Amino acid sequence: MTGPEVVIVGAGVVGAALAEELSARGWDRITVVDQGELPTPGGSSSHAPGLVFQTNGSKTMTELARYTVEKLVSLDLDGDPCFLQVGGLEVATTPERLAELHRRCGWATSWGLDARVVGPDECVELYPLLDRSKVLGGLHVPTDGLAKAVRAVLAQLRLAESRGVRVLDRTEVLDVLRESLPDGRSRVTGVRTSAGDLTADLVVCCAGIWGPKVAGMVGMSLPLTPLGHQLAWTGPVPSMTGLAQDAGGPECARPIVRHQDADLYYRDRFDAVGIGFYGHDPMPVTVDSILSPEAAPVMPSVLEFTPEDFAPAWAQSQSLLPDLGGAQLAEGINGLFSFTTDDMPLLGPSRDVDGFWVAEAVWVTHSAGVARAVSEWLVDGHCTSFDLHECDVNRFENHQLAPAYVLERSCQNFVEVYDIKHPLEPMVKPRPMRRSPFHARQVELGAYFLEAAGWERPHWYEANSVLLEGRSVPSPDAWAAQHWSPIAAAEAQVTRERVAMYDMTALARLSVAGPAATAFLEHVTTGSVGKSIGAVTYCLLLDEDGGVHSDVTVARLGETHYQVGANGPLDLDALVRRARDFGGHVTVENITAGTCCIGLWGPLAREVLQPLTDFDLSNDNLKYFRGAQFHVGTVPVTALRLSYVGELGWELYTTADQGLTLWDAIWTAGQEHGLIAAGRAAFNSLRLEKGYRSFGTDMTYEHSPWEAGLGFAVRLAKDDFVGRAAAEKRQGDVPRRLTCLTVRGDELGGDGIVLGKEPVFSGDACVGYVTSAAYGYTIGTGIAYAWLPAELASVGTELTIGWFDRRLPATVSAEPLVDPDMKRIRGL
Ligand SMILES: Cc1cc2nc3c(=O)[nH]c(=O)nc-3n(C[C@H](O)[C@H](O)[C@H](O)COP(=O)(O)OP(=O)(O)OC[C@H]3O[C@@H](n4cnc5c(N)ncnc54)[C@H](O)[C@@H]3O)c2cc1C
Repeated sequence: MTGPEVVIVGAGVVGAALAEELSARGWDRITVVDQGELPTPGGSSSHAPGLVFQTNGSKTMTELARYTVEKLVSLDLDGDPCFLQVGGLEVATTPERLAELHRRCGWATSWGLDARVVGPDECVELYPLLDRSKVLGGLHVPTDGLAKAVRAVLAQLRLAESRGVRVLDRTEVLDVLRESLPDGRSRVTGVRTSAGDLTADLVVCCAGIWGPKVAGMVGMSLPLTPLGHQLAWTGPVPSMTGLAQDAGGPECARPIVRHQDADLYYRDRFDAVGIGFYGHDPMPVTVDSILSPEAAPVMPSVLEFTPEDFAPAWAQSQSLLPDLGGAQLAEGINGLFSFTTDDMPLLGPSRDVDGFWVAEAVWVTHSAGVARAVSEWLVDGHCTSFDLHECDVNRFENHQLAPAYVLERSCQNFVEVYDIKHPLEPMVKPRPMRRSPFHARQVELGAYFLEAAGWERPHWYEANSVLLEGRSVPSPDAWAAQHWSPIAAAEAQVTRERVAMYDMTALARLSVAGPAATAFLEHVTTGSVGKSIGAVTYCLLLDEDGGVHSDVTVARLGETHYQVGANGPLDLDALVRRARDFGGHVTVENITAGTCCIGLWGPLAREVLQPLTDFDLSNDNLKYFRGAQFHVGTVPVTALRLSYVGELGWELYTTADQGLTLWDAIWTAGQEHGLIAAGRAAFNSLRLEKGYRSFGTDMTYEHSPWEAGLGFAVRLAKDDFVGRAAAEKRQGDVPRRLTCLTVRGDELGGDGIVLGKEPVFSGDACVGYVTSAAYGYTIGTGIAYAWLPAELASVGTELTIGWFDRRLPATVSAEPLVDPDMKRIRGL
């Protein structure tokens, strides 16, 4: 017997796939428990129509789907296939949707999927039921298709059983058993079921829509909402008679189809068509109201069909697929499945209960990929095949776990599931949630707010429109011009010419303190942080396999006290977990909410700040990458001489109660020097001109520091640290590089402004993808950072970037584009 004892709660497509993946890695002390009766225990997998469209704006989600397809294609149940690779076709009936399909084709290409935008004739050739006159084009992905979810469950369970896994259906998990740990937390010891207790070292919740109930057994709040979704089937469609079951053909031989303009999707089933609809009002249910398998008329995840909600879908379907006019609607359900607040799954371990894991809010589309990811994470301690930072169940801010937030966001995501969404489009509700102390002043200045981790964050200020006069400003095209203003150009230029203040409150801040603080931070980061008091170190958190887990700035504020500038809740999670090994000699506290930060940057920053303090701000006294604590007027601040925009200046931190006073003091003192408040749009441009990377966009878990251009932040010479051995091996192996491109417009204009995730081509071959992009207002050109094979990353290489149906010329450029000799930022 190998591996720990594992109980998997749920034998849907996720639990079954996980049992298969774990047992394939040699673990065999596994029991899969389901309250329902196999093969259709009654969860979402028991009735899912199984459409698998792999293309997704998230690289990770596309890769999870691609693995799922590869796996299911290789599986059969008694000779019957688990996947019908009929291809996927998303059709456009409006010019906006056609443009969106080009954008989606760009994602697919970026992430390595074979995809093409085809014309209306080819759409009809692929799916003859379409009305040629209604269709403007389509996105065709030949490897998409239909997952046979029930077969996939059984096939994967059988494989798992052949390796010793036990499967108990008709057995409900009633409770998760735990024992207390000395530090006040607990760890799982087993589960209580309707058939008795089972011991377990690990319990993995794959309970689908019941997830919040099972997670609730250990006090874990799982932010998902079960929502009803309409699925109906026609009777025989006259023109499909030859495809009838008794004609002996396959169940489905033509592509699955999406008609997002009307919130619809379709799949053939012999001579009938399945129709899925997202256009009705959201139908949330509470977990406690879901019936048991015994009490449910059909099955627990199936609610009664409400034809009145389906009426628009039926009308729209007959319009796009006129042959349906000759058919009747034969059956329908309102089926339940999980929606989350950000459309991403919930994967990983509970922070508070050792041994309790979740794999929740997973579509059939991503099921085998998720199972592989979670099994690698369980067996190896981390996942090497996929970057999971967008899926980690510990990624949420506290307010994002509020039931009201979860309900509102889940319902809204249902409504918007097929909407065309600009990458910067902010959520409308619930807002505002978090306001920095400067908010009132920002409103007075006409801030255009977007939302970041719940914070209202200015993108630019209308008050600065007066600065536009006489400035040269680019002209993005209509798509790139959304949530953009020429004012951002003026704000960026004034930052380089004079001085600007930026609200940096949304940047996460952690306080790390205690006698072991230095040893702890030396252990978890790649930097030498234990320098003199006042030292600031830019360094990384690595995974065990040497991938970049985050980038942080560590400021030594005292002998045993540090402030860590971090990227968000996952950094807090990583540090809190690792601090446990230091036996109470170090504490990690999230101080973001109680504090605030102004970035004061620009060549005149010292002229603004020096008159407000007795502290000597000269280069000699407070050098670049040093920090100090002093008063600005009456306000105590921690000043760190850092600059993400690449200019002289400081991040000035204080407590939230004094924030407004600090803002007013600086604002007043700055007026004679032409100080402005500037927003995030200018900030992004300035950081890219300076070549500063942003975790999660530019680099993620899958990249090594050297690939990302961050090798300088790794001190391999110091004592052991997390990820060191793997990092050392990866140092000499750099097959790809995060590379700086300058981008030009084409004859259609746009000034070379792209937004991120676009494919990069060398000739006709896709060779990489864009991460961050902006216009460089100082240098007068578009900028895009992109992942490229190392051999194409040399300066001067000519490439193109896919922008909708166009190709924009781009050149690999030496970085940073501004201040390469560091004179500006060092104030020399
Ligand atoms: C109408 C409809 C159409 C859909 N169409 C698609 C599609 O086309 N493509 C796609 O990718 N996805 C689709 N989905 C979504 C997809 O079906 C689900 O996301 C997926 O099946 C969830 O799988 P799961 O294993 O997580 O959950 P489930 O299949 O729900 O399995 C969870 C299992 O846990 C068991 N369980 C729960 N609590 C306990 C307990 N306390 N003790 C023991 N057992 C327990 C349940 O009995 C259940 O069998 C659709 C969903 C619906 C409703």
